[in-house]
Amino acid sequence: MITAYIAVGSNLGDPIAQAQQAIKSLESLPNSRVIKASSLYSSTPMGPQNQPDYINAVVKIETDLSPIELLDNTQKIENEQGRVRKEERWGPRTLDLDIILYGDEVIDLPRLVVPHYGMKVREFVLYPLQEIESNLILPDGSALNKLVESVDRNGLQVWG
Ligand code: ATP
Ligand code: MG
Ligand code: MG
Repeated sequence: MITAYIAVGSNLGDPIAQAQQAIKSLESLPNSRVIKASSLYSSTPMGPQNQPDYINAVVKIETDLSPIELLDNTQKIENEQGRVRKEERWGPRTLDLDIILYGDEVIDLPRLVVPHYGMKVREFVLYPLQEIESNLILPDGSALNKLVESVDRNGLQVWG
């Protein structure tokens, strides 16, 4: 089995419930199991500021799905939770599931880039990831703890 990390984000339609439901749905992924889920966090939006704050989390799974099979399944969950794809980049959404890491694999396909291209600069990915996997080393050799030190929390806080 491969260890993978999935970032969860929502800022529409009761984001707390969306994130909790997403974690439940990840527990039902075929040929996979959830090992750990971070706390839920609240964060300020990236990109357009005229949208609600986000709820974020990171989930660690083990899976026998291939990377594309995993993407197909996470996109299915996004769709089931009412994700509507709009023109606006980084606009509001009921659910975003991004594959952050898939083992140590470096993947560069039209539909899938792993590690996720934004993970090293996004506080709402780095801090929840550190909560569940503090000593993680990325495929390029960079240490998660160092990355966290280099990125401001930017208002990110544990929700609740
Ligand atoms: P960002 O990727 O900057 O966080 P976003 O999550 O809002 O933005 P989406 O609209 O969710 O972007 O996805 C756009 C496309 O990104 C998807 O159709 C998917 O094929 C592609 N994609 C590439 N790499 C990944 C990845 N690691 N995880 C999820 N989707 C990915
Ligand atoms: Mg995203
Ligand atoms: Mg996405």
